Amino acid sequence: MASIGFIGVGHMGAPMVINLLKAGHKVKVFDLNVNQMKLVAAKGASIAASAIDASKDVDVLISMLISGKVVEDIYLHDIKLLKHINTNTLVIDSSTIAAEDSRKVADAAKQKGIAIVDAPVSGGVAGAEAGTLSFMVGGDKSAFELAEPILKCMGKNIFHAGESGAGQTAKICNNMLLAIHMAGTAEALKMGVDSGLDPKVLSDIMVKSSGRNWSLELYNPYPGVQDHVPAANNYTDGFAVNLMNKDLGLAKETAVQTQTKIPMGSLAQKLFKEHAENGNGQLDFSSIQLWYE
Ligand code: NAD
Repeated sequence: MASIGFIGVGHMGAPMVINLLKAGHKVKVFDLNVNQMKLVAAKGASIAASAIDASKDVDVLISMLISGKVVEDIYLHDIKLLKHINTNTLVIDSSTIAAEDSRKVADAAKQKGIAIVDAPVSGGVAGAEAGTLSFMVGGDKSAFELAEPILKCMGKNIFHAGESGAGQTAKICNNMLLAIHMAGTAEALKMGVDSGLDPKVLSDIMVKSSGRNWSLELYNPYPGVQDHVPAANNYTDGFAVNLMNKDLGLAKETAVQTQTKIPMGSLAQKLFKEHAENGNGQLDFSSIQLWYE
């Protein structure tokens, strides 16, 4: 069993740590929020005094942080963690950040002889709790092979997307498409309801027809159609509009760099941005249904 350091035990990191503990690994955590550390300590994790302490004498160091700035500050600038990490520690950064930022950290790590992968996730808090996350991994094949058994303790589908940064690119392509089909699903349901259809009947029809998609089938945005989705619970919990907006911003940056036309992604970004500006940033992203009301 491995000894693992884990930095960032928020909504996603905490359940991921719990699954590592369940798999029998020894986990040492660090977070600026003491309550989050206590939450996982109650399940058997030990609490580190600092990010540097969390990265000392571990086989694997995992980070699950909110932005590229925080990741760069920890690894390269403020904390300069890479200076302290042993060369036989594997680094896995599961934060969703720009591919360019991932490559910056990875290049610096590789220069020091440290194996590193970017491994952003899909599946949300529910997937993190159930241990069914999808991991999209960027990095050398040898580093991917070292990371795979650890990631399997927290996820079901582990993909090697390519070299460093490729995991982030895959994640951003996926989330741009998710925003587009969630908004499209909400739009179609609203038009059906306004025309007198029952949203459940319309959803049943479209799930068996060519409009079928993940948002419609598994995460229906229209209240009353499905149980156990955020729409059944006033759009609380789930994947926040603010986080979707962060990912759509990363998609826009990627498109500018690659000179890719993304008219659908840009329109989705405009809708989700307006929705957040209307005070809905903390709601689950399927609340885009409310934008149509
Ligand atoms: P979160 O804000 O709940 O957790 C981040 C944690 O990092 C917090 O507990 C915070 O205190 C801690 N932190 C911040 N700065 C720190 C520092 N300098 N040192 C130590 N700890 C620090 O965020 P989350 O929802 O867990 O998301 C984490 C990442 O996962 C993000 O990149 C997000 O885009 C991605 N993601 C989230 C979801 C989701 O549904 N929440 C789904 C897929 C991917």
